[in-house]
Amino acid sequence: MLLEIDGWKVGLKFSASHFIPSHHKCSRLHGHDYGVRLRIFGETKDHILYDFVELKNEVRSLCEELDHKLLIPKSKKYIRHHIKDDRIYVSFEDKHYVFPKGDVTIIPVNLITAEELARYFSKKVLERIRFPENVKGIEICVDEGPGQGACNYIPLGDEK
Ligand SMILES: [Zn+2]
Repeated sequence: MLLEIDGWKVGLKFSASHFIPSHHKCSRLHGHDYGVRLRIFGETKDHILYDFVELKNEVRSLCEELDHKLLIPKSKKYIRHHIKDDRIYVSFEDKHYVFPKGDVTIIPVNLITAEELARYFSKKVLERIRFPENVKGIEICVDEGPGQGACNYIPLGDEK
């Protein structure tokens, strides 16, 4: 059995800006509307696979942490940054930016790509939610605009 939640339709969305160094177009500061889609795989128990209210709430709160922010990767592998007073200084290649700290969310990833965001959401969801035994896997997708995104599947329970 498969349960699907389309965040575009149920409000699991956020708008954020980012840049990807070395990418011809995406190395310039720009933004996207992001949507999060969830798929839950498993067996039904008492005619239900999973009561997804808690899952939706957790994903919604993760979206709110990123909404209307500039997203910066915590790893300094590609983008250097440091915080001084209420500002964050960001640089890569020959570019240098200064942003108010409150406008930025730092995420523990290497780059702000749909792939890395899908991995980040999966990790956070698993930290916050304990799925029942009948749930055998979850897939979390982060779309950069409707119709294009990255999905991360995580096996649970017996499949681990
Ligand atoms: Zn982009």
